Amino acid sequence: MSRRFSSVSESILDAIGDTPLLEIDGVFAKCEFMNPSGSIKARIALYMIEKAEAEGRLRPGDTIVEATSGNTGNALSMVAAVKGYRMRVVMPEGLSNERVAISRAYGAEVEFCGNFHVNSALERAHELGRQDGFFCPSQFESEYNVEENRVVLGPEILAQLPEGRLPDALVMGVGTGGTLIGVGQAFREANPDVRLFAMEPSGSRTILCGEVDTHAIEGISDGFVPGIFARHAELVGDNLAVSDDEAIAEMRRLAREHGLLCGPSSGAHLVAARRVREQHPELRTVVTLFCDEGEKYLQEHFSAPATDVVGTAFG
Ligand code: PMP
Repeated sequence: MSRRFSSVSESILDAIGDTPLLEIDGVFAKCEFMNPSGSIKARIALYMIEKAEAEGRLRPGDTIVEATSGNTGNALSMVAAVKGYRMRVVMPEGLSNERVAISRAYGAEVEFCGNFHVNSALERAHELGRQDGFFCPSQFESEYNVEENRVVLGPEILAQLPEGRLPDALVMGVGTGGTLIGVGQAFREANPDVRLFAMEPSGSRTILCGEVDTHAIEGISDGFVPGIFARHAELVGDNLAVSDDEAIAEMRRLAREHGLLCGPSSGAHLVAARRVREQHPELRTVVTLFCDEGEKYLQEHFSAPATDVVGTAFG
């Protein structure tokens, strides 16, 4: 029986966090896709909302508005549904349809702004957020995003690592940068020598060289260097790139060989973490995260049969 659910829960929000840590291909991967609403973002969505409630910045009857490439929108829509707020998701066009459908399923209104990258959606959400009756959590700027990762997710991973093991490296793409920075801060407290690797799509290396292009690793590299990352950039000493093809191939392999149905950033993270392990054998304990589930990419990436059984002798 699950350790967490041996008694009645108040709502689905109680099931956020406490996800498994797997050892896979010689690296450790935190299964964040298992959170309610299907991604790591459930954690910061709930955390930012509860901070705003406690500080009186969000009141009953208000509308939550947020710019997102999808997962934070889905997560906030779930939190808003449970807590009875209205939700307006502002997102670019050109991302998977499922992300839009999921927010709508939770009762949110979706406004489209811009294409693929989140820049114009961000301006629009901040503009609405300044109006009466709206509250914008501002995930790309909010120190509460970093704080959740530092005080909740980071320590959770540290407690799950095998006895006596401390993280030597954290490998992670940058959407808001909240996970890399916040979990990185928690890891650094445990091991001052831990190395943080920012993973970027090979065709859009925004942090390393200011390059902005479209790519297939949805949820990271949204077209700008987020405020959170810029404020804490000195923590991150390393940068590496993964191509779209590598990310997608690895994402498919995760499902077929490990039974893990995750999205492209999880594939990219595993490729990058394994590369760090291979190139730096002294880094024994490499940690990464599987950030969202694969069901919202079924049409886009998983529709080809795993094995084509055609033209056999038996017809
Ligand atoms: N992977 C996926 C699928 C995501 O949705 C996100 C967040 N948008 C990330 C990775 C990156 O997380 P963070 O915002 O903490 O940098």
